[in-house]
Amino acid sequence: MKIAIYPGSFDPITYGHLDILKNASEIFDKVIIAVAHNGAKTGFLSVEERVELIKKSVKDIENVEVDSFEGLTVEYAKKHDANVLIRGLRAVSDFEFEMQLSQTNSALCDEIKTVFLTTKPKYNFISSSTIKEIYANGGDISKFVPEAVDKYLNEKIAKPC
Ligand code: ADP
Repeated sequence: MKIAIYPGSFDPITYGHLDILKNASEIFDKVIIAVAHNGAKTGFLSVEERVELIKKSVKDIENVEVDSFEGLTVEYAKKHDANVLIRGLRAVSDFEFEMQLSQTNSALCDEIKTVFLTTKPKYNFISSSTIKEIYANGGDISKFVPEAVDKYLNEKIAKPC
């Protein structure tokens, strides 16, 4: 059984992430989409909120599991018998960082390989950071994020705590 991990911040999950995930789910027997706890960055949404929104957004894809993790991605992958990490590439601008990350992970654990996937062109430009910017300025994000995310964020803005 070929298991792949799709790690990331997913703050929040977008149609770009979802397209990468769908492609990966057609290649691998099981894909675990795993939200990384990032000690250095305070997120826009909590890790729990992100996991919940991902679960709602992927419920129709059978071989996908949703989780979160702390610590090294390679250790998390080994614990789940996965030897593939999925990452997405949008443009040349992603390339340098992703290349460095993949080579670092491979230096940490040689058995773990990174597979890069791309999205359909219509999702290529989408990023969580631009979505947060549009949302903060009252714009419509429904074209860029799954319905569950749009609904949740619209309710959050209507009822700020
Ligand atoms: P990070 O893990 O670097 O904080 P994200 O959680 O936003 O970043 O994204 C996780 C992965 O998905 C990264 O490899 C990123 O390049 C990729 N990704 C994000 N949005 C898209 C998109 N629209 N098209 C292709 N890949 C994407």
